[in-house]
Amino acid sequence: MTTTGDLLDRVRAGEIALYELDDHTAAETAAAVRRQYLAAETDADLDALAPVPFSAAQAAESNVENLLGAAAIPMGVAGPVSVDGGAASGEYYLPLATTEGALVASVNRGLATIEAAGGATARVTDSGMTRAPVFRVDGVAEAQTVTEWVAENEDHLREAAESTTSHGELLAVDPYVVGDSVFLRFVYDTKDAMGMNMVTLATREAVGVVERETAAELVALSGNLCSDKKPAAINAIEGRGRTVTADVVLDRSLVEDRLGTTPEAMVEGNTRKNLVGSAKAGSLGFNAHAANTVAAAFLATGQDEAQVVEGANAITTMEVREAGLYASVSLASLELGTVGGGTGLATQSAALDVLGLGGGGDPPGSNADALAEVVATGALAGELSLVAAFCSRHLAGAHEELGR
Ligand code: NAP
Repeated sequence: MTTTGDLLDRVRAGEIALYELDDHTAAETAAAVRRQYLAAETDADLDALAPVPFSAAQAAESNVENLLGAAAIPMGVAGPVSVDGGAASGEYYLPLATTEGALVASVNRGLATIEAAGGATARVTDSGMTRAPVFRVDGVAEAQTVTEWVAENEDHLREAAESTTSHGELLAVDPYVVGDSVFLRFVYDTKDAMGMNMVTLATREAVGVVERETAAELVALSGNLCSDKKPAAINAIEGRGRTVTADVVLDRSLVEDRLGTTPEAMVEGNTRKNLVGSAKAGSLGFNAHAANTVAAAFLATGQDEAQVVEGANAITTMEVREAGLYASVSLASLELGTVGGGTGLATQSAALDVLGLGGGGDPPGSNADALAEVVATGALAGELSLVAAFCSRHLAGAHEELGR
């Protein structure tokens, strides 16, 4: 029987590469050998990485290579808050994983204020995960022939794309031409999955048809017009993943008692900071800190953390109404899911269970829609709390009080 000592010796002798350990032993043991090897090589104490709260085999299979252990992130909870959504309905606790002190307290204060107002309203207004391959053609005339063929043969492409998935549905193929490059932006309904793997496989199949039937030659399956994990106006305008808005009307007394300010001051703060300041900065997002809530919710629930880049692309609006303050947050491209990716790992799946949104929804897509609506409500809470903190000049004090 091969022991961890034997494996360590063979790694040190250069007979086995670190990444090859999984071919020789179970994932958990492979990780332990890597820790021992790296601890000796780097003089770092890696014991803290050892408690792995998920199945090492599952993680090594689907989520990470060269598994070393687990990076633990503190997880807090905000809420409960009532959400009247297109899919979300009732009370939700929102798990948030973060190392930023004061963040959970801030979202919690906002959610308590929203709850006191009777809860938030939220809707997914658009939905579609995209993949945009880029093709080479010999010039603009050929580009037009290709895009015309695509427009006339969308059914053909749909059949090919959907042959790879039992859940995904091709919704549209939007063409873009730049010189002798043709981009086809495929848009899919991915139901409860965030969908990047699903749509990449489906698009590869459809691309085969385009190449067979037209003169276009594929250069890259992703031509960056998708646009994944890069700040991009196309996502802000066309949407990607879920496009979702949460809003609330707060009575004047709630703004005064809970947030320590007035609707007028909130509106001025939002206008000068989130709108004018962001415009002057050339920002893609017009908000105070939507990324904070989105990132913490993504880490807690097993989303792809790099997609916070576009997931936090949000516009916050506020206006004075007769009753008090109207506030909204619209997230243009919130890419998330309740199946697939990291959602099945132990702590992430527990967090989804706290929300009551783990796994596939009935009907398919409804769990991911509901998750988007709850995250948007969390982002709204964060915006209300932070804008109020600026307006009442409490921000530095709150951080100081909480010790960071
Ligand atoms: P996935 O884990 O690859 O696949 C999820 C699968 O779950 C779906 O394809 C579907 O199978 C199945 N499924 C079961 N119940 C479902 C339901 N109710 N709704 C939808 N699907 C259901 O996840 P993914 O969402 O496609 O991709 C997410 C992963 O992609 C993340 O790990 C992310 O980090 C990674 N990623 C990949 C790329 C890339 O370019 N490939 C880019 C960015 C991120 P069927 O399709 O058979 O129906």
